[in-house]
Amino acid sequence: MRAWLKPGYGLLLLLCLLPLLLALPRMLQLWDGGAASSLRVFALATGILAMALLLLAATLSIRLPGLDRFFGGLPQIWLVHRLAGFGAFILIMAHAVVLGFAAVPADLSAAIITLFPPFENWPVWSGWGALLLMVVFLGPTFQFFGRPHYQRWKTLHLLAIPTTLLALAHVFPLAGEFWIWVVLAVLAIGAMVWRKGLSPHLGRYEYEVVGVEKLVRDVVEVQLKPRGKTMPYEAGQFVYLTPMDPNLSAGKGEEHPYTIASSPEDAILRIGIKDLGDASHALQTVTPGTTAYIEGPYGDFYERLYPERDQLWLAGGIGVTPFVGGARHLREADELPGQAGREDANAHLFYLGRDHVRAYYLDELMDIGEHHERLTVTPHYFRDEGPMSEDFLRRHCPDFAEREIYMCGPPAMIDHLKQIFVRAGVPSSRIHSEVFDFL
Ligand SMILES: Cc1cc2nc3c(=O)[nH]c(=O)nc-3n(C[C@H](O)[C@H](O)[C@H](O)COP(=O)(O)OP(=O)(O)OC[C@H]3O[C@@H](n4cnc5c(N)ncnc54)[C@H](O)[C@@H]3O)c2cc1C
Repeated sequence: MRAWLKPGYGLLLLLCLLPLLLALPRMLQLWDGGAASSLRVFALATGILAMALLLLAATLSIRLPGLDRFFGGLPQIWLVHRLAGFGAFILIMAHAVVLGFAAVPADLSAAIITLFPPFENWPVWSGWGALLLMVVFLGPTFQFFGRPHYQRWKTLHLLAIPTTLLALAHVFPLAGEFWIWVVLAVLAIGAMVWRKGLSPHLGRYEYEVVGVEKLVRDVVEVQLKPRGKTMPYEAGQFVYLTPMDPNLSAGKGEEHPYTIASSPEDAILRIGIKDLGDASHALQTVTPGTTAYIEGPYGDFYERLYPERDQLWLAGGIGVTPFVGGARHLREADELPGQAGREDANAHLFYLGRDHVRAYYLDELMDIGEHHERLTVTPHYFRDEGPMSEDFLRRHCPDFAEREIYMCGPPAMIDHLKQIFVRAGVPSSRIHSEVFDFL
């Protein structure tokens, strides 16, 4: 089912609007038709909505394997988390500005007192504190001064916890409808306690690195074996990997998301890792025998809106990993991911690369394609063919526009391919993509 149609989003929307709906009678009582009362009601509405969005963003920071599928996968949840956070930020500012303006008709000092009352009126000051902290931790996300360092950005994001607590200290004494705020606060605080306090102990599987295979100069496949319980997963899902190798030059004890490249039938968990920064660089030489914690699985890559359709796969660079998992699943279970029971289902994989020298995993994928009539693999090298074109796709897969489309790769590749599909008349509901980037 399309991510936005997932039932989870209906529930979230309701939770977000409920405080506003419950406050409606109170707001109508306040409203006398005049400009000042209209502004006050508007300020109240923006404040209530801002607070609901802030608590929703905090709730969505939870990572609970399986739960994310009700929302179309974790990347989709992160997107809504970001939108809710930004929405809350804008509305909080609007709330403060409009509150000030509402008091101006009385006189300017009344406006100043409304916004900056004596310190005994601490709920107002805790509101200011929350806004200030939000400016600090959301600032880098806007990327005005370039892309922030991911780990520093993540550490700064911990300020979201005191922000939420200060915002609650603002809202409880001032807001009317107490119970709905209790419900939203319990969800938000529960999510944060799980994510930061409990999940690192209760939500992870202990694995051991049993092999590291070099695929090309800057890509390895890390192989892991469970020390205790095995994590069940489906092809195309991803995990958070936390390596504990004491010899790592960077990233020891840091969690990073990686797609599972093995088939769920495989006793070994395989992860293809490209050197994209300090932690992934260090992992190129992770020591076999060391511990790595695995959290997950997350994601819903092969979830389908139209199960009756054949599949078109397009992979670019390290974005090939979900398709490697899909092809290995076909080899080991004789079915395509997401199409169990459809014996005639088939997939056509276009492997987009610069040239054959860097085409890692391609030999294995071609081999699977040669032995399974349900998978066709076509390499496309930029150096020989230029950018991927509709003509190339049609030549090798005449019914490409009729298929359910899955893409994974760099954002520029995804944008380029989307344009081709839109021009070819493919409805957006049949185009699914994943970019390995959460910022
Ligand atoms: C859903 C998903 C699946 C992925 N699958 C793969 C895969 O199969 N193979 C692969 O090589 N890479 C994959 N990645 C990318 C991988 O997570 C990053 O390359 C890795 O985290 C980079 O960390 P670094 O310290 O080496 O580099 P940095 O320089 O710290 O980060 C480079 C970029 O990676 C992203 N990133 C870094 N740390 C994290 C984090 N903890 N959480 C989210 N994003 C982060 C940020 O956008 C950052 O700008 C995937 C990413 C996502 C979101």
